[in-house]
Amino acid sequence: MTTVVNIQNLSHSYLPTRKQSEPRQALKNVSLQINEAEIFCLLGPNGSGKSTLFKILSTLITPSIGSVNILNYDLATQSDDVRRQIGVVFQHPSLDIKLTARENLLHQGHLYGLRGAKLSNRISEMLSRVGLTERTNDLIEHLSGGNQRRVELAKGLLHHPQLMILDEPSTGIDPGARHDFMNYLKELRDKNGITILLTTHILEEADACDRIAILDNGILVTLGTPQELKHEIGGDVITLTSTNPVKLSEEIKTRFGYSSTIIDNVVHFERSNGGEFIPELVHAFPNLIESVTLKKPSLEDVFIHKTGHRFWN
Ligand code: ADP
Repeated sequence: MTTVVNIQNLSHSYLPTRKQSEPRQALKNVSLQINEAEIFCLLGPNGSGKSTLFKILSTLITPSIGSVNILNYDLATQSDDVRRQIGVVFQHPSLDIKLTARENLLHQGHLYGLRGAKLSNRISEMLSRVGLTERTNDLIEHLSGGNQRRVELAKGLLHHPQLMILDEPSTGIDPGARHDFMNYLKELRDKNGITILLTTHILEEADACDRIAILDNGILVTLGTPQELKHEIGGDVITLTSTNPVKLSEEIKTRFGYSSTIIDNVVHFERSNGGEFIPELVHAFPNLIESVTLKKPSLEDVFIHKTGHRFWN
C-alpha cells in the first residue's frame, strides 16, 4: 500500500489576537497516514481542528510543530512541489458566478500554464467527468449549488493532481446533491486512482468514506473504516431514561460491570446481544428505568464512546 500523506506529530497553535489574549492550540500531536486511492475523511464537530489541518495540507499555513510528507515531498521545504501534486476545493466558493463553467476553468488552466487545444480538451474531459457537459456554457450563477460544487471539483482536477483535498465540500448542498457528489469522488478513486481527503461535520458523509479520522478539540480520537469504528464499540447501543440516571448508571456498573455515559440525562452503554440483555436489565431495576432503546452503533455513538460527549453541543 502506497502512503500518499504522512503526518507525524503535528501540532498547531494560533498566536494571540486582539480578541483572544491566549494562543489557541488547534491541533495536538496528530499522526496519521493516508493511502493511495482511498477516500479519507476528517470528521469532527465545529472547532475540532479540521480546517486547520486542511489549511496545513493545502500549504496555506505552516504548522507550529511536526512534519507532513505529501507524495514524498516535505511540506516544510518543498511546498511548491506539493502544490503541483494537489488539487484543492475550498469551503467557500471560488468560482466567478458571472462567467460560464468553461470560462472559469479556462482561467484556472492559464494559472497552471495550460493553453490551446490541450487546455480545451482537458476542460471538456473534466466537465464530462463531473457530469456537466451540457452545462459547459452556462453562467455559474444559473447552476444549482450541487452543480457549482461539481465545477469546483473539475477546477481542482484540471492540472492532473494525484491528491484532491476538499474542505467541507457538502456545505450548502442538499442530501441528494451530496450523494451525487460522493459518487463522482468514488469514480475518481476507482477510475483514476486519485486519493481524496475531505473534511466534514456531516456523519452520513463520513459514513460513505473508506476511512475516517475523528478529531475532537484538536486531538485525533480514533481512526478506521466506518465498520471498524462501529464494531470496536461492541455490538449494540442501549440507551435508558430514568428518574435517577446517576443512580442507574452506578447500579449497572455494580451489578453488571458495564461503564455507561450520561448525556442529557440519558444513560448510554454498549454490549453485544443487547436484545437478549434488555429483559434482564429491566427486571433488575424495575423502579429506575423509564424507557429503553436498542440500536446498532452509529458514528455518533462512536464519537460519544470515544469522547464522553455529544457530537453536536
Ligand atoms: P473546524 O474546522 O473543525 O471547525 P478549526 O480548525 O477552524 O476547526 O478551529 C480549531 C480551533 O482553532 C478552534 O478553537 C478555533 O477557534 C481556532 N482557530 C481557527 N482559526 C483561527 C485563527 N485564525 N486564529 C485563532 N484561532 C483560530
